Amino acid sequence: MASLVGEEPLSLTQELDLIAFGQRLRHLRKQRGLTLSDLGERVNRAPSQLSLLENGKREPKLSLLKSLAAALGVPIEELLRRQAPNRRAQLEMALEEAQRDPLYAGLGLARLKVSARVPNDVLEHILGLYGELRSRQAKGTATPEEARAANAELRRKQREQGNYFAEIERAAAEALAAVGYRSGALSQSTVQALVSHFGYTVQTVQDLPRTVRSISDLRNRRIYVKHEQVGMHTPRTILLQTLGHLSLGHHKPRDFADFLRQRTEANYFAAAILVPETAAVPYLREAKKDRALSVEDLRDVFAVSYEMAAHRFTNLATHFLDLSCHFVRNNAGGIIYKAYENDGIVFPADEQGAIEGQRMCLQWSGRQVFLSPDRFSVYYQYSDSPTGTYFCVAHVDPSRERDFAITLGVPYRESRWFRGRETTSRTKSDCPNGDCCRRPPAELTQRWEGYAWPSARGNSHILAALPPGSFPGVDEADVYTFLERHAVH
Ligand SMILES: [Zn+2]
Repeated sequence: MASLVGEEPLSLTQELDLIAFGQRLRHLRKQRGLTLSDLGERVNRAPSQLSLLENGKREPKLSLLKSLAAALGVPIEELLRRQAPNRRAQLEMALEEAQRDPLYAGLGLARLKVSARVPNDVLEHILGLYGELRSRQAKGTATPEEARAANAELRRKQREQGNYFAEIERAAAEALAAVGYRSGALSQSTVQALVSHFGYTVQTVQDLPRTVRSISDLRNRRIYVKHEQVGMHTPRTILLQTLGHLSLGHHKPRDFADFLRQRTEANYFAAAILVPETAAVPYLREAKKDRALSVEDLRDVFAVSYEMAAHRFTNLATHFLDLSCHFVRNNAGGIIYKAYENDGIVFPADEQGAIEGQRMCLQWSGRQVFLSPDRFSVYYQYSDSPTGTYFCVAHVDPSRERDFAITLGVPYRESRWFRGRETTSRTKSDCPNGDCCRRPPAELTQRWEGYAWPSARGNSHILAALPPGSFPGVDEADVYTFLERHAVH
């Protein structure tokens, strides 16, 4: 709810909220048999001013919100709820929203002003036509180019803010305070209390569609999740992400970039709940003072996955610990699925600056960890790169997805705060120089060029972004080395 009265940068979201608010205000007023003048008198405002509010044309100040709530005898939250108060209001809101859509406006029709005389079935009919118009215009899913551009843009925003989002931290802190959270890892009962705090109940089902993690029924205030075995995606993370969407006031995404932003924000919210700022920051500061910073410890103290601990570390490191850092999630073949940096490390990227689907240097710790004798223990190394030396900690989480490595890295000078700094592992990367690891050694190329015909594995992953190369996703150096190893000389 805070996002409604706070400064939210998304003007469209606010417009829609105003419409919902206006509808709700009108509904409550009429329910109580009050005219605009009656209510105006009670809150000391001209009827015309209230009319502007009811039509979604003006934003109410907090003080007016309070007096309106008092005059109507409802809690302020009741006025701010996003759901339409009844079917009629829902139809009117939907039509209002539809008429603001450039697609609708582009038809050049005179604006339809919905009076009380227009019956519901006419509204239903118009909305049906609009829905059909939209679905015929829809482009389908995002192209790989759009997906990559959206990812690059999102990463730029994250970097600008040191990957710290104060608004979401505040929303999470408020929710935690409301359910009486004090310190340490989040208990299952606290998660339950949070669900109730948002006015929802959880239903565990077996037949959830395969393509979703959860479904929320906004009318009946239920969250449907799948019953899952222990060790898989944790249901509590999925629940908290869902609460994140609700608490942050997300609407149906406009496009892929919007979808991505919402998903990232919901993930952030879940992380901010599971590893609360108020508990994690003092803990990390203490660890830094002891020169014993460690993602593993953060994971253990808050009982979260290694990936979540590493990611959460990047949220808090720059803002509170004065550390720049980088984060990478890559598969055993070195393909990057997720990455973030504000420490100057240069990830491989395409022309649009997108990193997803690129193959990272063989010398980086996220690849070296797969070559280490015990790939499931935490791996430390210093990595020399063209932009400087980094201290990197990589880990393949055996309890989760064994084919993925999570790396957290910091510039060399910051290694002194971290556990594992005494490692003697050190590699040198010349990437993106092709002679580092991208191109096969010259003598192998000489022998095998033109004689290799690999059959590529499908790359249905990473937002349809295909890794580069003549056989997308295939590492030529690997192929040649393999051939050389198995060749009969
Ligand atoms: Zn390299």
